[in-house]
Amino acid sequence: MEKLTELKNVVSDSYSYIRKYKQQSGKKAVGYSCSYAPEELIWAGGALPVRLFSANENIHLADTHLQSYCCSLVRGILEEALANRLDFIDGVVFPHTCDSFQRLSDIWRLNIADQFHIDIVLPVKLDTPSAKQYLQEVLEKFRKDLGKALDVEITDAMLTDSIKTYNKIRSLIIKLYELRSKNPQLISGVDFHAVIKAAMIMDRDYFLEALSEIIAQLEKTGAGEAKTGVRKIVLSGSVCSHPDIYGVIEEAGGVVVWDDLCTGYRYFEGIMDEKINPIEAITERYLNRVICPAKHLQLRRRGENLISLVKNSAAEGVVFLLLKFCDPHAFDYPYIKEMLEKANIPCMLLDVETELPPIGQLQTRFETFIQIL
Ligand code: SF4
Ligand code: SF4
Repeated sequence: MEKLTELKNVVSDSYSYIRKYKQQSGKKAVGYSCSYAPEELIWAGGALPVRLFSANENIHLADTHLQSYCCSLVRGILEEALANRLDFIDGVVFPHTCDSFQRLSDIWRLNIADQFHIDIVLPVKLDTPSAKQYLQEVLEKFRKDLGKALDVEITDAMLTDSIKTYNKIRSLIIKLYELRSKNPQLISGVDFHAVIKAAMIMDRDYFLEALSEIIAQLEKTGAGEAKTGVRKIVLSGSVCSHPDIYGVIEEAGGVVVWDDLCTGYRYFEGIMDEKINPIEAITERYLNRVICPAKHLQLRRRGENLISLVKNSAAEGVVFLLLKFCDPHAFDYPYIKEMLEKANIPCMLLDVETELPPIGQLQTRFETFIQIL
């Protein structure tokens, strides 16, 4: 499948893709690190939103600024910048979420030169009477700050166009999730992961075209009868930069049919209203989408959401992918585990760092878990 191969190539060398894209389009690239960054505004302003990831390489430069007990995502992203591998980035946007990201923003501002830097101070509690108005004001301020940095006035019409593009992308990705959940053989977990990652890096118009083509082709060719006896699993956690994990689970007799990841379903969930004021539409999505544990919206909302994802995808168990030293997710884990137990949904916890544990060891752990499902 030509388009799928193209997306996989972009993901395997995303820095070269972005450099070439900038050269050909004359656009700027704006880095962001968290799914609370209002990308729709960046795309509306004529720049390419680029999600920043840790490159899973040896982290040493970042250690002079961050303690080793900060999560490897934050340390890894800083390492990329300090090693000057992100020289194609024209500016960065840091939404205030967890403590680690807030500190990363401060360190970035003081140490990474020649790019604009915008903090977005989002409300922490999303269910207070003033949260909506405050969030709208924050997003309006961001529209102005970003417009100034990009030297463009981001009008409502430009923003509504961008929202339409994002809505189409999100709807198609959800369609891909649904197709794969019915028949996981349709597209391998590794390829699926590549599509998701490409959505956060590529020219969004081109990505939309490519994704439509991939889905049409998958629907046409199909995958035959779904394999029987394979145990269906939901992956839950923050950021997953480990495509290999899908393959290891598949080798162990399972398959990931859905996820509750920040680089997965949580990033795509929530269609924005195209008929209301666009800033209000983005605000509404942030207030209603499934939250990450760095935000507050009803005490048990994340647990309830995870249980309904398991039920809707007919999954039999949950694998928690916990980045070491990620406090927000670690604090949520005990109560969510308890809720899953009450709902008779088995789960296992896997601590990961920049690198996965040795594959053999991992496979044994998954096999043991899958046997109890
Ligand atoms: S898990 Fe939360 S804080 Fe971390 S990147 Fe995702 S949205 Fe941001
Ligand atoms: S939410 Fe967790 S994984 Fe994400 S940046 Fe914060 S500490 Fe790291």
